Amino acid sequence: MELFKQHQIKIYNSLTKSKQIFKPINEGSVGMYVCGPTVYSNVHLGNVRTFMSFDLIYRYLLHLGYKVRYVRNITDAGHLENDADEGEDRISKKARLEKIEPMEVVQQYTVDFHNVMSKFNSLPPNIEPTATGHIIEQIEIIKEILAKGLAYEINGSVYFDVLKYNKKEHYGILSGRNIEDAIHNTRTLDGQSEKRNPQDFALWKKAKPEHIMRWPSPWSIGFPGWHLECTAMSNKYLGKQFDIHGGGMDLKFPHHECEIAQSNACFGENPVNYWMHSNMLILNGQKMAKSTGNYILPNEIFTGENTILTKAFHPSVVRFFMLQAHYRSVLDFSSDALAASEKGFFKLMEAVNSLSSIKTGKTSTIDIKTWETSCYNAMNDDFNSPILIAQLFEAVRFINLLKLETETLNQEDLEQFKKVLNAFIFDVLGLENIIKTDTSSQLEGAVEILIKLRNEARISKNWALSDQIRDELLEKGIQLKDGKEGTSFSIN
Ligand SMILES: [Zn+2]
Repeated sequence: MELFKQHQIKIYNSLTKSKQIFKPINEGSVGMYVCGPTVYSNVHLGNVRTFMSFDLIYRYLLHLGYKVRYVRNITDAGHLENDADEGEDRISKKARLEKIEPMEVVQQYTVDFHNVMSKFNSLPPNIEPTATGHIIEQIEIIKEILAKGLAYEINGSVYFDVLKYNKKEHYGILSGRNIEDAIHNTRTLDGQSEKRNPQDFALWKKAKPEHIMRWPSPWSIGFPGWHLECTAMSNKYLGKQFDIHGGGMDLKFPHHECEIAQSNACFGENPVNYWMHSNMLILNGQKMAKSTGNYILPNEIFTGENTILTKAFHPSVVRFFMLQAHYRSVLDFSSDALAASEKGFFKLMEAVNSLSSIKTGKTSTIDIKTWETSCYNAMNDDFNSPILIAQLFEAVRFINLLKLETETLNQEDLEQFKKVLNAFIFDVLGLENIIKTDTSSQLEGAVEILIKLRNEARISKNWALSDQIRDELLEKGIQLKDGKEGTSFSIN
C-alpha cells in the first residue's frame, strides 16, 4: 500500500489562513507550481531558501508515493524593475548595461541558478518553462479576458480592470487587502499613466522604441505583463485547477493576487487549492541588501570568501541549517548559527554511518514504531522539518545506546530503524552523506613527513636544508624538539 494512504498531511493554506487536510484533486497525484527566479543576476540566498523549502515538500510527497508534477518557471521576460507596470525590463537592462544579448543574460544566470541548486542537492522540477517560450499562450489568455470584458486596451497596451473584477470577485482574497481601502488611500493617477485606475495591472505592454525584448500581438508590438506568465504556464501544464502553488511570501501581493484574478477572469475558476508561502531569510538579524554590504552569495558560503563568515561551509551543512527552521518562520543566517548547525550535522552523519556496527539483539528494548510515527507526524504537520530533525537526534541517542549495548533491537526492528532513518535523512531532507575530515590529524601527518625529510637531510649532512625545514616550520608556529626518542613537535 502506498504510504500516502496511511498518512494525512495538513498544509497551512495562505488563502484560508489555516491548516487544512491535504486532499489532491486526483487521488495519488499532485500538481505543484512554484514561481521560479527572474534570471538577471546570481540567485539570491533568500530565493534559495524558498526553492529548498519546496524541494523538501516535493521530496516528502514523492517519499509518500505521490505521482508529482512539479512545475517551476524561469522568468526571462516581462519582470520590470519595480515589480509594477513601469520601469525597464530587468533582463533588458542588464543586457543593455553589459552590451550583450538579453538571451545571454538569461543563459548565464539560468546556468548559475541550476548550479547552485544542484550544489544544495535540490531535485530539478519536472517542467521548467520559460515566459518567452509561452508568449502565444499568454496572448490567448489576454484575448479571453478582453472578451469577458474584464480588461481594456489603451494605446496598444492591455490592462486588467481590477475594479470591475472586484464587483463580482474578491481582489485581495489572498493578501487580505481591501480594494476599497486601497482606492481611498491612493492618490489619483498622475497625467503620465494611461491606466483607468492605479490598481489595474498590465496584461500586455506596448514596447517603447528602446525596449529590446518585443513580440507581435493583436494590440501592438510589445511584451506580456509579469503576472501573466505564471497563469499561462500553470494552466498549460497543470490545468485550470491544481493542488499546490508556492512561492516566497513577497510574491503574495501583487503577483499571486493577480494570478488568482487572471485565472478567475479567464477560466471562471479559482486556480489553486493550497497556496503555500515560505518566509524570509535575514542575515545577522537584518534584511539582506547589496547596498549595506549585509549580503552574501550562495557560492561565497562554499568558499568562505565573504567577511560575514569565519570559514567555508559545505552546501549540505547549509541545507541542514535551513531545514532546522520551519519554512513559515523567519530564518536568521549567521556564521555562528551555521557553525552550530555544522556540529549537529556531523553528529548525525557519524551516527548514521556507524549503524552497520550495531549488533542485532534477541529482543527490542526501544519502541521503533513510536519513533517512526513521530517522524511522520512531524512532516505530516505542514512539513515541520525542525521537529523531524529533533526526532533524528533522538535516533542518534538510540544509536549511542545500541552501540553500548545498553539497549537492543531485534533484527526486524533494526532493519526498519535503518530504513526509516536513511529515508528521512537522505531522501526527504536531501542531505548528503559526508564524513568529517579531521584536519588536525592531516596536519600532524604532514609535519611527520617534514620531520622525516629533515632527518634524511641530517644523515646526508645537508645542514642547510635541515635548518631551513626547522626555521620555516617555526615561522608557521610549529616548533620541532630534538630528543633522545627522536624529534617531536608542538603547534602553537
Ligand atoms: Zn509566478
